[in-house]
Amino acid sequence: MTDKEVQNGFNDAWINFWGKYKDVPPKDDASGAWEEFYMESASMKKKYPLLEEVINRMSAEIIERARGNGNVPGDYHRPPTSSKTQTDSDRDNEDDDIKKSIDKLMKVMDSIETAEQKGEKIATCTCGGVVHFGRASINNHLHARCEKCGFVIMQ
Ligand SMILES: [Zn+2]
Repeated sequence: MTDKEVQNGFNDAWINFWGKYKDVPPKDDASGAWEEFYMESASMKKKYPLLEEVINRMSAEIIERARGNGNVPGDYHRPPTSSKTQTDSDRDNEDDDIKKSIDKLMKVMDSIETAEQKGEKIATCTCGGVVHFGRASINNHLHARCEKCGFVIMQ
């Protein structure tokens, strides 16, 4: 990698990921804000493998802030999975949901990427359904939807 790539990665993560969520973490509602958050987290890590752990820990902190925790001095050692040590079962379920969402997102994105390389317009969802996708001509942002489970990707 080049110096420029390292610089760009940190800038991008700092401004467009951390800067976007540090004070306004996603809310638990039907707006799809969490979905968007996980998607951005995943695509940021894919774009900058160097920052994978950084993005994971930023994400863990943002999730803590969304829960009204976080902003604890020196707490940057919190591994993304450390919440498992808490016995609250709701929270465990929430973490499982997060992992499943990220996992699903990564798999669907992979499928879309493969389809795009072949010049196809449909991909496969983890539910087995057909994912229709396209890119906005103006900014190349991806949008995709599974016709079976309704899973949506909006960039
Ligand atoms: Zn599906």
